[in-house]
Amino acid sequence: SSGSEENDVVVIGGGPGGYVAAIKAAQLGLKTTCIEKRGALGGTCLNVGCIPSKADLPLYISLSIYLYCMVCLPIHPFQALLHSSHMYHEATHAFSSHGIKFSQVEVDLPAMMAQKDKAVSNLTRGIEGLFKKNKVTYVKGYGKFISPSEISVDTPDGSTTVVKGKNVIIATGSDVKSLPGITIDEKKIVSSTGALALTEIPKKLVVIGAGYIGLEMGSVWKRLGSEITVVEFGPNIVPTMDFEIRKQFQRALEKQGMKFMLGTKVVGVDSSGDVMKLIVEPASGGEQSILEADIVLVSAGRVPYTAGLGLAEIGVETDKVGRIPVDERFETNVAGVYAIGDVIPGPMLAHKAEEDGVACVEFLAGKHGHVDYDLVPGVVYTHPEVASVGKTEDQVKESGVAYRVGKFPFMANSRAKAIDDAEGLVKIIAETETDKILGVHIMSPNAGELIHEAALALQYGASSEDIARTCHAHPTMSEAVKEAAMATYDKPIHI
Ligand code: FAD
Repeated sequence: SSGSEENDVVVIGGGPGGYVAAIKAAQLGLKTTCIEKRGALGGTCLNVGCIPSKADLPLYISLSIYLYCMVCLPIHPFQALLHSSHMYHEATHAFSSHGIKFSQVEVDLPAMMAQKDKAVSNLTRGIEGLFKKNKVTYVKGYGKFISPSEISVDTPDGSTTVVKGKNVIIATGSDVKSLPGITIDEKKIVSSTGALALTEIPKKLVVIGAGYIGLEMGSVWKRLGSEITVVEFGPNIVPTMDFEIRKQFQRALEKQGMKFMLGTKVVGVDSSGDVMKLIVEPASGGEQSILEADIVLVSAGRVPYTAGLGLAEIGVETDKVGRIPVDERFETNVAGVYAIGDVIPGPMLAHKAEEDGVACVEFLAGKHGHVDYDLVPGVVYTHPEVASVGKTEDQVKESGVAYRVGKFPFMANSRAKAIDDAEGLVKIIAETETDKILGVHIMSPNAGELIHEAALALQYGASSEDIARTCHAHPTMSEAVKEAAMATYDKPIHI
């Protein structure tokens, strides 16, 4: 442990915000300690979020489906299960059209879960290795402020140690938001954490909340055979998504068999019997009806996590929803105390937390850090994926700027046709006068990879013509981005 020796930087929380901040700080020559209570690094994202949901699984023909995690290096238990269930779905629904037939395909759920767990523990240990390599001191235990520069840590062996730092970064992340009248027991009524560890495939799964986590989790269990109903209070799924893409996305999910009850609220759950009964009614009030479920997943959002941290005692302010307001250098209202990631305002995403972490410690090292919050890409890892960067059409309309829209469907993209996976489109919004790109929205397989060409274009202030005149390899899905760019100011070739 770092004992009473003073650090330049102490980071509380070892999630993507905290561990990246700690490594970067050490790389910049600052003496750094990171405190993490979970007993494993990687935070929500690696342990119960992004990674476990997205592990990979190879096929054992005629035998069973077995799962292993590919290189889910960034972070994701979720990524694990998304990929596994997708491969199973492909095996049962898509392979035969490519001339690949099985006599029997089965899901071995314990093996799938074991592999997800292995992927996660490998990745968390990988971060410990990076801490060693970069000489970050790792203190396991629950951190609590004694003063703005002293943290007491209750360690797993029952002792308490004090860690001192000239600067302290709060990176304690977020927790599941509960709903009034619904008690999460992580067995029958689960959060995303419980939904990543079910021991049986539910017959009927009701998802409360049509945000990206609910839809990704719903997709996993739908592919493995569950009946899925998504109940959403608002009028739309994923409210931050471009309306046109959202419409097509909802249609794609419905085609896969997912049911939606939008503008609907859950007013109570009767979990006394074997099958739970959810009482639902229109969001604006009206006649109630009953929905049956074996498992209910509550995914109605996440809230900042600062429990037991002692913020009030040292005078760090929080806002109405518990977030910690910070200035442009990530400093809180208390000098020398900083905050990053899910615990501060902004999109609750792993890559945003990482950007915060790097920029924050760059300031601490006397350099200039910068995060462009308008250009944080968002990805929904369903199949097809939906990815976006920049403004939606509604946001551009609201800003009053005259704009043009260019679209290109994957039905007209040769690669997508060749692999028989051509659902989706690319939509580019550009300013009429200058042709500067304002927003890009993609629905397609691997949209989460395709979006970064657009992110770079927006970062560099590119025009749609800049993308259209960049030679794109053939045959690739990326050609659809080029053609949508052509459609923005001129005509595409292939449609
Ligand atoms: P966290 O990852 O929450 O880490 C905070 C850490 O601080 C935790 O490990 C916690 O144990 C520790 N801690 C808290 N209090 C203390 C204390 N007092 N002392 C010591 N340690 C403490 N984001 C994406 O970008 N892509 C995705 O695909 C994605 N999928 C997701 C799927 C799910 C199911 C969930 C739940 C989230 C997903 N996210 C995804 C969001 C992502 O996980 C978060 O945005 C990200 O983890 C935030 O990072 P953070 O470092 O701010 O906080």
